[in-house]
Amino acid sequence: MKKTFLNKNKTLIGLGYEFLVICPHCSSCAKVIALDDPSPYVANVRRRFVCTACGATKDKVIKANGYGQARVSYESKANYEVILTGDPCDWYFQLPLYLQIECSGNTLWALNLEHLNYMESYIEAEIRESHPYYLSVESRLPKWMKLAKNRNEVLRAIQKLKGRLNEKS
Ligand SMILES: [Zn+2]
Repeated sequence: MKKTFLNKNKTLIGLGYEFLVICPHCSSCAKVIALDDPSPYVANVRRRFVCTACGATKDKVIKANGYGQARVSYESKANYEVILTGDPCDWYFQLPLYLQIECSGNTLWALNLEHLNYMESYIEAEIRESHPYYLSVESRLPKWMKLAKNRNEVLRAIQKLKGRLNEKS
C-alpha cells in the first residue's frame, strides 16, 4: 500500500509550544517552552528556557504593544520580544535550534519532535492530498525539500536528527 499524507493543517504557530535548542552554557539539548498560551501573538505570557543538563533556566514575560498584543517582528535584526523569521532559532530567546542539519546544500530544521515527524510523514508519502491550507507546514516547506530528487536525502537527514535525539535520551 502506498503511503498517503492527509492534510492535518498543522502550522508552525501551532507547533511553537516547544523548541528544542542548543544550550548557550553547555551545548546540550535544552528547551524553550510556553508556560501560558503558546501563541506568539499573545502578550503577558511567560516563556521559559530550561536546560536539564546544566540546570540553567531563564524566564521571559512577553510585554504588550499599544494594542495589547505581543511585539512581534518578522526581521531578525529588530529588537523585538518575539522574532518570527525563517531562521532556525526559537522565537523568544533566539537560541539556535537543536534539530538542524545540512541537507542538499540547505539547512533542514524543526522546532521539536512533533514538527520533525510531521515533515517526515509528508516527505515520505507517495500520495499527497492537493490544496493544503496555505499556512500549513506542508504548504510552507521550501521547494528543495519537496523535490523528488532530494527525497531520500531529506529523509536521511530527518533520521539523523532523530538519531541525535535518541542518543541523548
Ligand atoms: Zn545547559
